[in-house]
Amino acid sequence: MRIFHHITEMRGFSRGERAEGRSIALVPTMGCLHEGHLSLIDKAKTHGDIIVVSIFVNPTQFGEDEDFAAYPADIDRDLALCETRGADAVFIPDTAEMYDPDTSTVVDELKLSRGLCGASRPGHFSGVATVVAKLFNIIEPDAAVFGQKDAQQVLIVKRLVRDLNFPVEIVVGPTIRAADGLAMSSRNQYLSTDERRRASSISRAIHQAKERIEHPGDGGEPDVETIVTDVRRGIEAAGGEVDYVELVDAENLERPDTIERPVLVAVAARFGAARLIDNVTARPHIRIIEPNPYRPQG
Ligand code: AMP
Repeated sequence: MRIFHHITEMRGFSRGERAEGRSIALVPTMGCLHEGHLSLIDKAKTHGDIIVVSIFVNPTQFGEDEDFAAYPADIDRDLALCETRGADAVFIPDTAEMYDPDTSTVVDELKLSRGLCGASRPGHFSGVATVVAKLFNIIEPDAAVFGQKDAQQVLIVKRLVRDLNFPVEIVVGPTIRAADGLAMSSRNQYLSTDERRRASSISRAIHQAKERIEHPGDGGEPDVETIVTDVRRGIEAAGGEVDYVELVDAENLERPDTIERPVLVAVAARFGAARLIDNVTARPHIRIIEPNPYRPQG
């Protein structure tokens, strides 16, 4: 497995591989790898010949009072995991190499990035879009794999690729969860044993919401407000401090009046020092209308 710290070396490797007819699939990460990240490496193998993992804790996507300085890191462990999982190259640039001190250009998506995490973390998605654009320009991948755990990020990256004509296929992997349902996250390391146990309420609450949307009982289809309130209550009852609970259209992230298309039930909540996010996609219950036997056919 090759390890690159410098942009020119990374780009040289990518171009060399492509010149020999091999395609490149990129898995961008901030390190502190877990099974969620590793599942994306597996997925990448079905979308490219050469797998590149980037490990870069991108300062521009953290707010001033956020955990950039404390973000967990264990590069030796990460490299070992990448190698055993079959990555061909890892790109680990320095911040100074990625961002010139005089940097004055950013990429900002203007619609999808404004709600959900964009509302509570102003500037976050501009940081994400900028670093993803830079990684695409440096590595020139044919495909890039992202996790559905960050559903809003996926939509923004797809929009970035469409709007700025990046020749990159965006591939999405499902959210990988621990046995109790908690979505795997590097930030789970911040949780105490007790917080860790209580944090599983997030996944429980959103999966209950999914069940109610997809299999409404005799009471009929639940309304959006009731679902959102019940998810919030489930998390607060476990001691979580809710940042947001939203039910939004899975494509445009707008809140619908009634659920007629696939929706995302998305949550950000704090347990102790950890701000955790999670989401599920729910497809509306389809009413089967029996054909009327008394109506003449044909
Ligand atoms: P991060 O290192 O947190 O920036 O995440 C890097 C990539 O891994 C992103 O595309 C995330 O959506 C994805 N990812 C993080 N956690 C999970 C998970 N539990 N399941 C699937 N993908 C994940």
